[in-house]
Amino acid sequence: MKIILDFDDTIFNTHRLMHSISAIFKKAGFTEEEFFGAYQECKKIVGDFDPKTIIELLNKAKPFDKTKAEKEIDLILGDLEDFIYPDFFDFVKDFQKKDLILLSFATTDTQKIKIDNSGITEFFGNIIITSRDKAEDVKPILEKYKSEKCFFIDDKTMQVDNIKNKLPEIITMKIKRPQGIDITTESRLTDYTIESLDEAKNIINKLIK
Ligand SMILES: [Mg+2]
Repeated sequence: MKIILDFDDTIFNTHRLMHSISAIFKKAGFTEEEFFGAYQECKKIVGDFDPKTIIELLNKAKPFDKTKAEKEIDLILGDLEDFIYPDFFDFVKDFQKKDLILLSFATTDTQKIKIDNSGITEFFGNIIITSRDKAEDVKPILEKYKSEKCFFIDDKTMQVDNIKNKLPEIITMKIKRPQGIDITTESRLTDYTIESLDEAKNIINKLIK
């Protein structure tokens, strides 16, 4: 058996992290709207969360103490264990490290920092950070473990439907975290829609019996 897990909004509370980062800019004189506007703009430019780009965008609009903000962001990013959803730690107790694969989409170096500093790397047999279609990374895993059940858990409908469409033999779960970014779109193709990793654990344990 292999379980492929997404990072943001699946095991990591991204919403909470972005609000912690937003608070740094609030102290520097920016409103939440200004910060989240720059965050969206940053995603358009570099594809992902990147503190340096956000700082530059906000500084262009209204110059501020960039070094101070940088330091405060580094401090938050330096220890992110608190941002992992607690049910993840229960989830991993039921499975072997060799069966757990983290598959995270990223276009910036910040993602590796987030993963490394969230204290979860020890629970995974394999950690993949990819900037291509996730199906490209899932396919070789399915081929290698052909005779075993494989599971794919992700919060994004687009990701879940894409994987299920291209690789129908995988068992998919769309996870809807209450604060997740993609909770309003329904997956047409997913095998299961869940709200926690406790639910995922129960489903997997039933299916592998
Ligand atoms: Mg995600």
